[in-house]
Amino acid sequence: MFEVVIGLEVHVQLNTKTKLFCSCPTSFNHKQNTNTCPTCLALPGALPVLNKEVLHKSVMFGTAIDATINQVSYFDRKSYFYPDSPSAYQITQLYTPVVEHGELEIDLEDGTQKTIRINRAHIEADAGKNIHDGDISKVDLNRAGTPLLEIVSEPDMRNADEAVAYLKKLHSIIRYLDIGDANMQEGSFRVDVNVSIRPKGDEKLYTRVEIKNINSFKFIQKAIEVEVIRQSEAWEDGVYDDEIVQETRLFDQVKQETRSMRGKEEAADYRYFPEPDLLKAVVTDEMLEKYSKIPELPDAKKERFVEEFGLSLYNASVITSSVEMAQFFEDMMAEGISGKNGATWLTVELQARMKGDVNITNTPVDAKTLATVVKRIEDKTISGKAAKEVLDFLMENDGGDVDATIEKLGLKQVTDMGAIEAMCDEIISANPEKVEQYKGGKEKLFGFFVGQVMKASKGSANPQAVNEVLKAKLG
Ligand code: ADP
Ligand code: MG
Ligand code: ZN
Repeated sequence: MFEVVIGLEVHVQLNTKTKLFCSCPTSFNHKQNTNTCPTCLALPGALPVLNKEVLHKSVMFGTAIDATINQVSYFDRKSYFYPDSPSAYQITQLYTPVVEHGELEIDLEDGTQKTIRINRAHIEADAGKNIHDGDISKVDLNRAGTPLLEIVSEPDMRNADEAVAYLKKLHSIIRYLDIGDANMQEGSFRVDVNVSIRPKGDEKLYTRVEIKNINSFKFIQKAIEVEVIRQSEAWEDGVYDDEIVQETRLFDQVKQETRSMRGKEEAADYRYFPEPDLLKAVVTDEMLEKYSKIPELPDAKKERFVEEFGLSLYNASVITSSVEMAQFFEDMMAEGISGKNGATWLTVELQARMKGDVNITNTPVDAKTLATVVKRIEDKTISGKAAKEVLDFLMENDGGDVDATIEKLGLKQVTDMGAIEAMCDEIISANPEKVEQYKGGKEKLFGFFVGQVMKASKGSANPQAVNEVLKAKLG
């Protein structure tokens, strides 16, 4: 039997205003090659100066994963030739990274937790982008010199589910700390997956394959699964040593297979050495003090939602999995509605009407409005069914005022007992035979009377009140 071993490297683009070593803006939707200067173009004589904001965000991250923060860290030069890197080297941190020895807790399917160790998180500069356009290739250097935090896990994950759970947790922490957009499609959260197998019980690490550039959790899951099959089949067929070599592979989404991109023999010789153009990076005591005060993280928030609002653990994890959703829920709670109702209307009713759009901030119905809908059920102004109509209307009409909508759609529940009694009397006197039959023991007819009254009120009567009045009148 085999055991799967997975270690992950994640490149997170930090959302600083300016680049890592120069004052060029970090926004990418500008005209190509406009956010550049002698430093990020690596013109001779230009010198890098460290952007302090990068250290601040690194301290926040290190705090979030309970890591050691090296108050003094250093930069190193990693040489490689590639058209999108004008300097022909990358500035990174090899020997002394800013963050070391952290950990992150993941939730497993069976409800238990597992700790994944994080070896390090280091600062490095991003490259530009090659744009391939038919026969010609172009280079856009707007991204060159953008700050990255590379987060390297220990090989602690044992299957694709654990790897994805780790990545989702990491992703949500980045979003909670607001140190990066972590948008996988746009490349601000890039994952390299290292996979190997070994006989169960064996402690040593076997040959790892690195799969690069997979831009969704779903594809990462699949890539690991197919790569594990490839490796174990090679083992069973007795060709493991020939076929499984340390190399970089790509995941082909269409063919659902991994494919060799570059092998060991082509592996770059990075010729690392300490970066001579930069001073050591210093996290001062004041910086440490200030930036280790981080916002509440997903796990803490989840526990608080269970305690404070009486949510189920399941609902609490769904809601806290995204920082926007958690904020939306807290804003709903500020309106004084029940936690359980709030959770249902957010995770079931509102989400169902968002048609697969996962970004809660895109809805035309804001937290206060949704909470008001719930409040009108709680104070019996409208029935739950009517509330759904109100929400439908608000979603289709770009939001609006809840009470005005209830008024407009005529959904106000009649709880005026006088009015309900009058309607019941009317139905009873209009159906003398049915009343006879009911009194003679045909109890099923009770539903008929309720239905008739509700119909007469066009659904606006409070059904509970109708039930009570009819029970009293029919005996
Ligand atoms: P590099 O920077 O050359 O990719 P590292 O030593 O930094 O190499 O390791 C990169 C990642 O690979 C780490 O996340 C580590 O946990 C993981 N890793 C190392 N060995 C293995 C292995 N045998 N199987 C799976 N993952 C591994
Ligand atoms: Mg690697
Ligand atoms: Zn620049």
